[in-house]
Amino acid sequence: MKKCTNCNKNLVKDEIALSKKMLGKNTKQYLCLECLSAYLNTDKEILLEKIEQFKEEGCTLFV
Ligand SMILES: [Zn+2]
Repeated sequence: MKKCTNCNKNLVKDEIALSKKMLGKNTKQYLCLECLSAYLNTDKEILLEKIEQFKEEGCTLFV
């Protein structure tokens, strides 16, 4: 089980996949939605939309 690099919260699969997608495949940093949205200076809702979008595109990280 991976934890958020920033706040140590347990991460769900989508958060891990999104971290890879946004921070790069080889990232050592995994962030929960809250921390990732702060890191990217965006809204949590926008990240949720991105997750849906990546799923629709059939991104293999989100299967
Ligand atoms: Zn966090």
